[in-house]
Amino acid sequence: MTSVPARVVLKPGREKSLRHRHPWIFSGAIARVEGEPGIGDTVQVVAHDGAFLASAAYGPASQIRARVWSFDPEEAIDEAFLERRIAHAIERRRGLEGSDGMRLVHGESDGLPGFVADRYGDVVVVQILSAGAERWRDAWPRLLAKLAGAKAVYERSDVEVRTLEGLKPRTGVLMGDVKGPVQIREDGIAYEVDVAHGQKTGFYLDQRDNRALARSIAKDRDFLNCFCYTGGFSLAALAGGANEVTSIDTSEEALAQGRRQVTLNGLDGAMAEWVSADVFSQLRKYRDQGRRFDAIVLDPPKFAPTEKHVANACRAYKDINLWAMKLLKPGGHLFTFSCSGAVGNDLFRKIVAGAAADAQVDLEVRRQLGASADHACSIHFPEGEYLKGLWLQAA
Ligand code: SAH
Repeated sequence: MTSVPARVVLKPGREKSLRHRHPWIFSGAIARVEGEPGIGDTVQVVAHDGAFLASAAYGPASQIRARVWSFDPEEAIDEAFLERRIAHAIERRRGLEGSDGMRLVHGESDGLPGFVADRYGDVVVVQILSAGAERWRDAWPRLLAKLAGAKAVYERSDVEVRTLEGLKPRTGVLMGDVKGPVQIREDGIAYEVDVAHGQKTGFYLDQRDNRALARSIAKDRDFLNCFCYTGGFSLAALAGGANEVTSIDTSEEALAQGRRQVTLNGLDGAMAEWVSADVFSQLRKYRDQGRRFDAIVLDPPKFAPTEKHVANACRAYKDINLWAMKLLKPGGHLFTFSCSGAVGNDLFRKIVAGAAADAQVDLEVRRQLGASADHACSIHFPEGEYLKGLWLQAA
Protein backbone atom coordinates (compact mmCIF):
# COMPACT_ATOMS: atom_id res chain seq x y z
CA MET A 1 0.00 0.00 0.00
CA THR A 2 1.20 3.50 -0.82
CA SER A 3 1.22 6.12 1.92
CA VAL A 4 -0.63 8.62 -0.26
CA PRO A 5 -4.30 7.63 -0.50
CA ALA A 6 -5.90 7.59 -3.91
CA ARG A 7 -8.03 10.64 -4.70
CA VAL A 8 -11.44 10.91 -6.23
CA VAL A 9 -11.76 14.34 -7.84
CA LEU A 10 -15.30 15.58 -8.39
CA LYS A 11 -16.61 17.57 -11.32
CA PRO A 12 -17.17 21.27 -10.69
CA GLY A 13 -20.31 21.88 -8.63
CA ARG A 14 -20.77 18.20 -7.79
CA GLU A 15 -19.51 18.60 -4.20
CA LYS A 16 -22.89 20.03 -3.16
CA SER A 17 -24.44 16.84 -1.81
CA LEU A 18 -21.31 16.11 0.22
CA ARG A 19 -21.44 19.58 1.70
CA HIS A 20 -24.99 18.64 2.74
CA ARG A 21 -23.43 15.60 4.38
CA HIS A 22 -25.06 13.06 2.12
CA PRO A 23 -22.71 10.05 2.16
CA TRP A 24 -22.88 8.82 -1.47
CA ILE A 25 -20.70 9.80 -4.42
CA PHE A 26 -22.22 8.68 -7.72
CA SER A 27 -20.02 7.75 -10.66
CA GLY A 28 -21.46 10.61 -12.74
CA ALA A 29 -20.15 13.19 -10.26
CA ILE A 30 -16.54 12.09 -10.64
CA ALA A 31 -14.09 13.94 -12.94
CA ARG A 32 -11.19 11.54 -12.39
CA VAL A 33 -9.64 9.05 -10.01
CA GLU A 34 -5.99 9.59 -9.12
CA GLY A 35 -4.03 6.50 -8.10
CA GLU A 36 -5.32 2.96 -8.34
CA PRO A 37 -7.65 2.27 -5.46
CA GLY A 38 -8.80 -1.32 -5.07
CA ILE A 39 -12.31 -2.41 -4.14
CA GLY A 40 -13.18 -1.11 -0.68
CA ASP A 41 -9.98 0.93 -0.27
CA THR A 42 -10.18 4.26 1.48
CA VAL A 43 -9.93 7.22 -0.86
CA GLN A 44 -9.89 10.96 -0.37
CA VAL A 45 -12.76 12.73 -2.07
CA VAL A 46 -11.85 16.25 -3.16
CA ALA A 47 -13.68 19.06 -4.92
CA HIS A 48 -12.59 20.18 -8.38
CA ASP A 49 -10.30 22.77 -6.77
CA GLY A 50 -8.65 20.09 -4.63
CA ALA A 51 -10.42 20.99 -1.36
CA PHE A 52 -10.88 18.02 0.97
CA LEU A 53 -14.48 16.83 1.23
CA ALA A 54 -14.42 13.38 2.79
CA SER A 55 -12.70 10.04 3.32
CA ALA A 56 -14.69 7.34 1.60
CA ALA A 57 -14.71 3.68 0.65
CA TYR A 58 -14.18 3.04 -3.05
CA GLY A 59 -16.61 0.75 -4.83
CA PRO A 60 -15.48 0.51 -8.47
CA ALA A 61 -18.33 -1.80 -9.57
CA SER A 62 -21.14 0.32 -8.18
CA GLN A 63 -22.95 3.40 -9.47
CA ILE A 64 -22.43 4.60 -5.91
CA ARG A 65 -18.71 4.81 -6.55
CA ALA A 66 -17.73 5.88 -3.05
CA ARG A 67 -19.42 5.97 0.36
CA VAL A 68 -18.30 8.41 3.00
CA TRP A 69 -16.65 7.17 6.17
CA SER A 70 -15.80 10.58 7.55
CA PHE A 71 -16.02 14.28 6.75
CA ASP A 72 -13.11 15.02 9.09
CA PRO A 73 -9.76 15.40 7.27
CA GLU A 74 -7.89 14.44 10.47
CA GLU A 75 -9.78 11.18 11.06
CA ALA A 76 -7.90 8.03 10.02
CA ILE A 77 -10.04 5.16 8.75
CA ASP A 78 -8.86 2.15 10.69
CA GLU A 79 -10.23 -0.38 13.16
CA ALA A 80 -10.20 2.22 15.94
CA PHE A 81 -12.43 4.40 13.77
CA LEU A 82 -14.92 1.55 13.27
CA GLU A 83 -14.84 0.88 16.98
CA ARG A 84 -15.73 4.49 17.78
CA ARG A 85 -18.62 4.43 15.34
CA ILE A 86 -20.08 1.15 16.67
CA ALA A 87 -19.67 2.30 20.27
CA HIS A 88 -21.47 5.53 19.38
CA ALA A 89 -24.31 3.64 17.65
CA ILE A 90 -24.81 1.43 20.69
CA GLU A 91 -24.62 4.37 23.08
CA ARG A 92 -27.29 6.24 21.10
CA ARG A 93 -29.68 3.31 21.55
CA ARG A 94 -29.49 3.39 25.32
CA GLY A 95 -33.00 3.30 26.72
CA LEU A 96 -34.40 1.40 23.74
CA GLU A 97 -33.44 -2.01 25.07
CA GLY A 98 -37.02 -3.15 25.93
CA SER A 99 -36.50 -6.22 23.77
CA ASP A 100 -33.75 -8.79 23.20
CA GLY A 101 -34.08 -7.89 19.53
CA MET A 102 -32.68 -4.56 18.41
CA ARG A 103 -30.88 -2.99 15.49
CA LEU A 104 -27.48 -1.90 16.75
CA VAL A 105 -26.04 -0.43 13.57
CA HIS A 106 -28.14 1.01 10.75
CA GLY A 107 -25.63 1.52 7.94
CA GLU A 108 -25.25 5.02 6.56
CA SER A 109 -27.40 6.49 9.34
CA ASP A 110 -24.82 5.38 11.90
CA GLY A 111 -21.89 6.53 9.81
CA LEU A 112 -21.04 2.98 8.71
CA PRO A 113 -22.22 2.74 5.08
CA GLY A 114 -23.34 -0.72 4.04
CA PHE A 115 -23.04 -2.25 7.49
CA VAL A 116 -26.05 -3.48 9.44
CA ALA A 117 -25.97 -5.28 12.78
CA ASP A 118 -29.05 -6.70 14.51
CA ARG A 119 -28.92 -8.11 18.00
CA TYR A 120 -30.98 -11.14 18.99
CA GLY A 121 -29.99 -11.82 22.59
CA ASP A 122 -26.27 -12.54 22.50
CA VAL A 123 -26.31 -13.43 18.81
CA VAL A 124 -25.64 -10.57 16.42
CA VAL A 125 -26.60 -10.89 12.76
CA VAL A 126 -24.71 -8.70 10.31
CA GLN A 127 -25.24 -7.64 6.73
CA ILE A 128 -22.12 -6.56 4.89
CA LEU A 129 -23.54 -4.76 1.88
CA SER A 130 -20.89 -2.45 0.43
CA ALA A 131 -17.33 -2.72 -0.83
CA GLY A 132 -16.17 -0.60 2.10
CA ALA A 133 -17.92 -2.74 4.71
CA GLU A 134 -16.51 -5.85 3.01
CA ARG A 135 -12.96 -4.45 3.23
CA TRP A 136 -13.30 -4.59 7.03
CA ARG A 137 -15.09 -7.95 7.21
CA ASP A 138 -12.61 -9.43 9.70
CA ALA A 139 -13.01 -6.56 12.12
CA TRP A 140 -16.81 -6.65 12.59
CA PRO A 141 -17.12 -9.84 14.70
CA ARG A 142 -14.22 -8.76 16.93
CA LEU A 143 -15.75 -5.36 17.52
CA LEU A 144 -19.24 -6.73 18.15
CA ALA A 145 -17.88 -9.19 20.70
CA LYS A 146 -16.05 -6.38 22.44
CA LEU A 147 -18.70 -3.66 22.31
CA ALA A 148 -22.01 -5.54 22.20
CA GLY A 149 -21.02 -8.65 24.14
CA ALA A 150 -21.84 -10.83 21.11
CA LYS A 151 -21.24 -14.53 21.79
CA ALA A 152 -21.91 -15.38 18.17
CA VAL A 153 -21.99 -13.42 14.93
CA TYR A 154 -23.90 -14.67 11.90
CA GLU A 155 -23.67 -13.14 8.43
CA ARG A 156 -26.76 -12.65 6.23
CA SER A 157 -25.28 -10.86 3.25
CA ASP A 158 -27.63 -12.70 0.87
CA VAL A 159 -29.03 -9.47 -0.48
CA GLU A 160 -29.35 -8.22 -4.04
CA VAL A 161 -27.50 -4.93 -3.38
CA ARG A 162 -24.26 -6.83 -2.83
CA THR A 163 -24.27 -7.82 -6.48
CA LEU A 164 -24.41 -4.14 -7.45
CA GLU A 165 -21.23 -3.65 -5.42
CA GLY A 166 -19.52 -6.50 -7.31
CA LEU A 167 -19.71 -8.79 -4.28
CA LYS A 168 -21.09 -12.31 -4.06
CA PRO A 169 -23.83 -13.20 -1.58
CA ARG A 170 -22.45 -14.67 1.64
CA THR A 171 -24.02 -16.27 4.67
CA GLY A 172 -22.74 -18.24 7.63
CA VAL A 173 -21.23 -18.13 11.08
CA LEU A 174 -18.47 -15.53 11.48
CA MET A 175 -17.87 -16.15 15.17
CA GLY A 176 -19.04 -18.58 17.85
CA ASP A 177 -21.89 -21.05 17.38
CA VAL A 178 -25.41 -20.62 16.10
CA LYS A 179 -27.51 -23.76 16.50
CA GLY A 180 -31.12 -23.49 15.39
CA PRO A 181 -33.43 -20.56 16.03
CA VAL A 182 -32.64 -17.95 18.67
CA GLN A 183 -35.39 -17.12 21.14
CA ILE A 184 -36.03 -13.49 21.95
CA ARG A 185 -38.59 -11.57 24.01
CA GLU A 186 -40.19 -8.41 22.72
CA ASP A 187 -42.74 -6.62 24.85
CA GLY A 188 -42.96 -9.74 27.01
CA ILE A 189 -43.72 -11.98 24.01
CA ALA A 190 -41.38 -14.83 23.05
CA TYR A 191 -40.44 -15.08 19.37
CA GLU A 192 -38.29 -17.62 17.58
CA VAL A 193 -35.82 -16.04 15.19
CA ASP A 194 -34.28 -18.24 12.55
CA VAL A 195 -31.23 -16.14 11.84
CA ALA A 196 -29.91 -18.57 9.21
CA HIS A 197 -33.03 -19.03 7.08
CA GLY A 198 -35.52 -16.33 8.09
CA GLN A 199 -36.25 -13.24 6.02
CA LYS A 200 -33.92 -10.23 6.36
CA THR A 201 -31.80 -10.98 9.44
CA GLY A 202 -34.53 -13.29 10.75
CA PHE A 203 -37.14 -10.90 12.13
CA TYR A 204 -38.79 -7.59 11.23
CA LEU A 205 -37.27 -5.56 14.03
CA ASP A 206 -38.36 -2.37 12.29
CA GLN A 207 -42.02 -3.07 13.20
CA ARG A 208 -41.42 -3.32 16.93
CA ASP A 209 -43.11 -0.03 17.92
CA ASN A 210 -45.99 -0.67 15.51
CA ARG A 211 -46.56 -4.15 16.94
CA ALA A 212 -46.86 -2.52 20.37
CA LEU A 213 -49.35 -0.03 18.93
CA ALA A 214 -51.46 -2.79 17.35
CA ARG A 215 -51.39 -4.62 20.67
CA SER A 216 -52.69 -1.55 22.47
CA ILE A 217 -55.96 -1.50 20.46
CA ALA A 218 -56.39 -5.28 20.13
CA LYS A 219 -58.62 -6.05 23.11
CA ASP A 220 -61.78 -7.93 22.12
CA ARG A 221 -61.22 -7.22 18.41
CA ASP A 222 -61.35 -9.49 15.38
CA PHE A 223 -57.92 -8.96 13.91
CA LEU A 224 -56.62 -9.65 10.40
CA ASN A 225 -52.85 -9.71 9.82
CA CYS A 226 -51.97 -9.70 6.12
CA PHE A 227 -48.43 -10.66 5.02
CA CYS A 228 -47.95 -11.94 8.56
CA TYR A 229 -44.55 -13.68 8.13
CA THR A 230 -43.95 -15.44 11.49
CA GLY A 231 -46.86 -13.58 13.07
CA GLY A 232 -45.20 -10.63 14.79
CA PHE A 233 -48.40 -8.55 14.73
CA SER A 234 -50.55 -11.65 15.35
CA LEU A 235 -48.77 -12.52 18.58
CA ALA A 236 -48.93 -8.89 19.67
CA ALA A 237 -52.69 -8.81 19.00
CA LEU A 238 -53.26 -12.08 20.86
CA ALA A 239 -51.22 -10.83 23.81
CA GLY A 240 -53.32 -7.64 23.71
CA GLY A 241 -56.49 -9.65 24.23
CA ALA A 242 -57.79 -9.93 20.66
CA ASN A 243 -60.92 -11.95 20.23
CA GLU A 244 -59.68 -13.76 17.15
CA VAL A 245 -56.61 -13.31 14.95
CA THR A 246 -56.45 -14.38 11.30
CA SER A 247 -53.00 -14.33 9.71
CA ILE A 248 -52.25 -14.68 6.00
CA ASP A 249 -48.95 -15.43 4.28
CA THR A 250 -47.73 -17.46 1.31
CA SER A 251 -44.79 -18.91 3.23
CA GLU A 252 -45.66 -22.24 4.86
CA GLU A 253 -42.52 -22.14 7.00
CA ALA A 254 -43.38 -18.70 8.32
CA LEU A 255 -46.94 -19.80 9.16
CA ALA A 256 -45.67 -22.95 10.90
CA GLN A 257 -43.36 -20.80 12.99
CA GLY A 258 -46.26 -18.49 13.81
CA ARG A 259 -48.28 -21.45 15.07
CA ARG A 260 -45.36 -22.67 17.18
CA GLN A 261 -45.04 -19.25 18.77
CA VAL A 262 -48.65 -19.26 19.93
CA THR A 263 -47.89 -22.44 21.87
CA LEU A 264 -44.54 -21.08 23.04
CA ASN A 265 -46.36 -18.15 24.65
CA GLY A 266 -49.06 -20.29 26.22
CA LEU A 267 -51.73 -18.48 24.19
CA ASP A 268 -54.96 -20.08 23.03
CA GLY A 269 -54.35 -21.64 19.59
CA ALA A 270 -58.10 -21.78 18.93
CA MET A 271 -58.16 -17.99 18.67
CA ALA A 272 -55.53 -17.93 15.94
CA GLU A 273 -56.19 -18.96 12.35
CA TRP A 274 -53.20 -19.28 10.01
CA VAL A 275 -54.10 -19.03 6.34
CA SER A 276 -51.75 -20.05 3.56
CA ALA A 277 -52.91 -17.84 0.68
CA ASP A 278 -52.19 -14.93 -1.59
CA VAL A 279 -53.41 -11.78 0.16
CA PHE A 280 -54.73 -10.23 -3.07
CA SER A 281 -57.19 -13.06 -3.68
CA GLN A 282 -57.91 -13.82 -0.02
CA LEU A 283 -59.15 -10.28 0.66
CA ARG A 284 -61.58 -10.64 -2.25
CA LYS A 285 -62.69 -14.00 -0.89
CA TYR A 286 -63.44 -12.49 2.52
CA ARG A 287 -65.45 -9.77 0.81
CA ASP A 288 -67.51 -12.40 -1.03
CA GLN A 289 -68.05 -14.25 2.24
CA GLY A 290 -69.11 -11.03 3.97
CA ARG A 291 -66.36 -11.31 6.59
CA ARG A 292 -65.44 -8.12 8.42
CA PHE A 293 -62.69 -7.19 10.86
CA ASP A 294 -62.12 -4.64 13.62
CA ALA A 295 -58.44 -4.23 12.82
CA ILE A 296 -56.34 -5.04 9.77
CA VAL A 297 -52.57 -4.94 9.26
CA LEU A 298 -51.17 -4.66 5.73
CA ASP A 299 -47.40 -5.10 5.80
CA PRO A 300 -46.52 -6.32 2.31
CA PRO A 301 -43.05 -7.08 0.94
CA LYS A 302 -41.22 -4.37 -0.96
CA PHE A 303 -43.42 -3.96 -4.06
CA ALA A 304 -41.00 -1.42 -5.58
CA PRO A 305 -37.42 -2.64 -5.16
CA THR A 306 -36.31 0.17 -7.54
CA GLU A 307 -37.69 3.30 -9.23
CA LYS A 308 -38.75 1.41 -12.32
CA HIS A 309 -41.16 -0.73 -10.30
CA VAL A 310 -43.00 2.24 -8.82
CA ALA A 311 -45.98 2.31 -11.23
CA ASN A 312 -46.77 -1.38 -10.70
CA ALA A 313 -46.16 -1.05 -6.98
CA CYS A 314 -48.67 1.82 -6.75
CA ARG A 315 -51.33 -0.38 -8.32
CA ALA A 316 -50.54 -3.23 -5.93
CA TYR A 317 -50.59 -0.98 -2.84
CA LYS A 318 -53.86 0.55 -3.98
CA ASP A 319 -55.42 -2.86 -4.57
CA ILE A 320 -54.69 -4.33 -1.15
CA ASN A 321 -55.63 -1.13 0.65
CA LEU A 322 -58.89 -0.85 -1.26
CA TRP A 323 -59.93 -4.41 -0.47
CA ALA A 324 -58.82 -4.21 3.14
CA MET A 325 -60.83 -1.03 3.62
CA LYS A 326 -63.93 -2.80 2.32
CA LEU A 327 -63.47 -5.39 5.07
CA LEU A 328 -63.28 -2.88 7.93
CA LYS A 329 -66.14 -2.77 10.40
CA PRO A 330 -67.37 0.73 11.32
CA GLY A 331 -64.75 2.27 13.61
CA GLY A 332 -62.24 -0.36 12.46
CA HIS A 333 -58.48 0.23 12.45
CA LEU A 334 -56.15 -0.16 9.50
CA PHE A 335 -52.37 -0.27 9.90
CA THR A 336 -50.98 0.01 6.41
CA PHE A 337 -47.30 0.01 5.44
CA SER A 338 -44.88 0.28 2.57
CA CYS A 339 -41.22 -0.62 2.89
CA SER A 340 -40.38 0.47 -0.67
CA GLY A 341 -37.76 3.19 -0.49
CA ALA A 342 -38.80 4.30 -3.99
CA VAL A 343 -42.36 5.05 -2.82
CA GLY A 344 -42.11 8.18 -0.68
CA ASN A 345 -44.37 9.28 2.15
CA ASP A 346 -46.44 11.65 0.04
CA LEU A 347 -46.98 9.15 -2.72
CA PHE A 348 -47.96 6.44 -0.25
CA ARG A 349 -50.51 8.74 1.37
CA LYS A 350 -51.95 9.58 -2.04
CA ILE A 351 -52.31 5.90 -2.91
CA VAL A 352 -54.07 5.17 0.36
CA ALA A 353 -56.34 8.21 -0.03
CA GLY A 354 -57.22 7.04 -3.56
CA ALA A 355 -58.06 3.59 -2.24
CA ALA A 356 -60.29 5.08 0.47
CA ALA A 357 -62.13 7.20 -2.10
CA ASP A 358 -62.75 4.16 -4.32
CA ALA A 359 -63.77 2.02 -1.36
CA GLN A 360 -66.07 4.83 -0.23
CA VAL A 361 -64.78 4.61 3.31
CA ASP A 362 -64.14 7.67 5.47
CA LEU A 363 -60.85 7.29 7.26
CA GLU A 364 -59.12 9.39 9.85
CA VAL A 365 -55.34 9.41 10.15
CA ARG A 366 -54.69 8.48 13.75
CA ARG A 367 -50.95 8.57 13.33
CA GLN A 368 -48.21 8.57 10.73
CA LEU A 369 -46.00 5.53 11.29
CA GLY A 370 -42.41 4.64 10.59
CA ALA A 371 -39.69 2.24 11.65
CA SER A 372 -38.86 1.78 15.32
CA ALA A 373 -36.48 4.19 17.04
CA ASP A 374 -33.53 1.77 16.81
CA HIS A 375 -33.77 2.27 13.01
CA ALA A 376 -33.32 6.04 13.34
CA CYS A 377 -32.18 7.81 10.21
CA SER A 378 -29.80 10.64 9.63
CA ILE A 379 -31.60 13.74 8.42
CA HIS A 380 -28.96 13.88 5.66
CA PHE A 381 -29.84 10.41 4.42
CA PRO A 382 -33.55 10.20 3.52
CA GLU A 383 -32.89 6.90 1.70
CA GLY A 384 -32.63 5.27 5.12
CA GLU A 385 -36.29 5.97 5.87
CA TYR A 386 -37.70 3.11 3.84
CA LEU A 387 -40.57 2.08 6.12
CA LYS A 388 -43.63 4.27 6.17
CA GLY A 389 -47.11 3.60 7.39
CA LEU A 390 -50.44 4.98 8.47
CA TRP A 391 -52.69 4.11 11.37
CA LEU A 392 -56.16 4.85 10.07
CA GLN A 393 -59.58 4.51 11.62
CA ALA A 394 -62.85 4.15 9.77
CA ALA A 395 -65.75 6.43 10.62
N1 SAH B 1 -45.48 -8.13 9.12
C1 SAH B 1 -44.38 -9.05 9.20
C2 SAH B 1 -43.39 -8.88 8.08
C3 SAH B 1 -43.98 -9.02 6.68
S1 SAH B 1 -42.81 -9.36 5.44
C4 SAH B 1 -43.73 -8.93 10.59
O1 SAH B 1 -43.99 -7.96 11.33
O2 SAH B 1 -42.94 -9.80 10.95
C5 SAH B 1 -43.78 -9.73 4.06
C6 SAH B 1 -44.38 -11.13 4.05
O3 SAH B 1 -45.27 -11.21 2.93
C7 SAH B 1 -43.42 -12.29 3.86
O4 SAH B 1 -43.57 -13.18 4.94
C8 SAH B 1 -43.85 -12.97 2.54
O5 SAH B 1 -43.78 -14.39 2.63
C9 SAH B 1 -45.27 -12.54 2.42
N2 SAH B 1 -45.85 -12.45 1.07
C10 SAH B 1 -45.29 -11.96 -0.05
N3 SAH B 1 -46.20 -11.90 -1.06
C11 SAH B 1 -47.37 -12.37 -0.55
C12 SAH B 1 -48.69 -12.53 -1.08
N4 SAH B 1 -48.98 -12.18 -2.33
N5 SAH B 1 -49.65 -13.00 -0.28
C13 SAH B 1 -49.38 -13.35 1.01
N6 SAH B 1 -48.15 -13.21 1.57
C14 SAH B 1 -47.17 -12.72 0.80
